Amino acid sequence: MKIILFGIPGSGKGTQAKVICQKYHIPHISTGDMLRAAVREGSHLGLQAQKVMNAGELVSDDLILQLVKERIDQDVCSSGYLFDGFPRTVVQADLMKALNINIDFVLLLDVNDNVVIERLSGRRIHPESNRIYHIKFNPPKVENVDDVTGEPLVHRDDDKEDVIRQRLDVYRAQTFPLIDYYSRNEGVNTPVYIVLNGCDRPDKISEKIFQLLN
Ligand code: AMP
Repeated sequence: MKIILFGIPGSGKGTQAKVICQKYHIPHISTGDMLRAAVREGSHLGLQAQKVMNAGELVSDDLILQLVKERIDQDVCSSGYLFDGFPRTVVQADLMKALNINIDFVLLLDVNDNVVIERLSGRRIHPESNRIYHIKFNPPKVENVDDVTGEPLVHRDDDKEDVIRQRLDVYRAQTFPLIDYYSRNEGVNTPVYIVLNGCDRPDKISEKIFQLLN
């Protein structure tokens, strides 16, 4: 099963992605996580991406496609995967089609900007495991410390309010056209397009997704 999980930054994609991938035994391909790993490693790609990410802008389509292509060519992806944060532009969706990557489902988590700003500005992550906390809605047992490893949590630079607003603007300008692209449902091999209310409780959203995918 090949899925695109789609939604504004902070719509809850990361949380749903984990649950879906566990249930269907498919790898979670988050281009944002891959880029952050490259930044941590200090690779050439990471250095190129870091400035763009910290400014809330998008990394180039070519670079993203190269990353994605390398990942899905791995054996572990042979029976499917879930894309989180990819594609982010119509150009990426077209490049994906040109590579014959055919998606079964596009799931859109629909939320409004105010919800997103509250969620993202309070989000804290454990970078090594990508465990996600929230200072108000899902706090760690000890303030600012990962429950499992005891290591410090991080407030991502791009989760600060001014950068969040910039990311939302970029999303509206560059990613919003993809909603139209996928909801039109034209042509052969078009994925089933499903809209979910991203303001519902996370467990309720997961339940709905399982019902629909089954
Ligand atoms: P995310 O964790 O998905 O919100 O991604 C964090 C940042 O990584 C984004 O703000 C972009 O700078 C970059 N990024 C992630 N995925 C993509 C993509 N598919 N295309 C371009 N830039 C991306």
